[in-house]
Amino acid sequence: MKLLKENVKYLIVHQSATDRDETTFEQIKKFHIWQGMGNIAYHYFIDARGKIRRGRSEASAGTHTKAAGMATKSLGICLAGNFNTQEPTISQLASLERILKDLAFRYKIETDNILGHREVPGSATECPGDSLNEWLVDFRKNLKTKKKI
Ligand SMILES: [Zn+2]
Repeated sequence: MKLLKENVKYLIVHQSATDRDETTFEQIKKFHIWQGMGNIAYHYFIDARGKIRRGRSEASAGTHTKAAGMATKSLGICLAGNFNTQEPTISQLASLERILKDLAFRYKIETDNILGHREVPGSATECPGDSLNEWLVDFRKNLKTKKKI
């Protein structure tokens, strides 16, 4: 399914829900292809060392968030880890911040539309885990504070 640039209004952050230091882009991609998704579900993937890997093309609808019709209006970014039990690494967060700011700028996305998967209305998931979702709440708060100055 195509993802039209003008329809992209949300950025959705995910966790792999697997061990942060043991999980690779290749493993997740292989798993999603085995599940029949045709490709990795996400547009970007960030491993424990902060390396950003491109998943599916930004012009292709993701299979990362079913709720609220998000497939056709969002880009998905996934961090390796289970953030109910682990913390993201400093490098992962630095990469996440960089990619969220870059995508928000390129797609003119509202700060309040940068969400953890669990924050999407109608979704019933722990994703992206407690510690990563707390980071996202602060990230939005900081972005909005900076805009007011
Ligand atoms: Zn998710």
